[in-house]
Amino acid sequence: MAYDDQNIFAKILRGEIPCNKVFEDDWALAFHDISPQAPTHILVIPKGAYVSMDDFSANAGADELAGFMRAVGTVAREAGAVDDGYRILANHGRDAHQEVPHFHIHIFAGRDLGGMVRKAEA
Ligand code: AMP
Repeated sequence: MAYDDQNIFAKILRGEIPCNKVFEDDWALAFHDISPQAPTHILVIPKGAYVSMDDFSANAGADELAGFMRAVGTVAREAGAVDDGYRILANHGRDAHQEVPHFHIHIFAGRDLGGMVRKAEA
């Protein structure tokens, strides 16, 4: 899948639409999810143009991979989520219901987050 530079996170990175920013460095931008599913729900996105985890893990350079993961940990720490715990999640593709085709990691915290995934229906 080719990268669509008109996706909403690409527009946020270019400053064409606003976000509620919590963190930025050379590798990543983090902002509050517009439709939070937990008291803390932050999205961390790489500065580079990657469609999803599949694209990022295959094609990002070592500095980008390290810088991005370092940023995810920093954002969770700065959100005060370490002591009580947090969950990170990245959706890739149809079965995971990925909506925005720019790689992002969700950070959820602030309540008991329940089981890991919905059980399969019988
Ligand atoms: P995913 O299903 O993993 O692609 O998740 C996309 C997430 O992006 C959803 O949780 C949306 O609520 C969130 N989202 C969409 N548009 C925006 C926006 N303009 N600012 C912040 N979050 C957004």
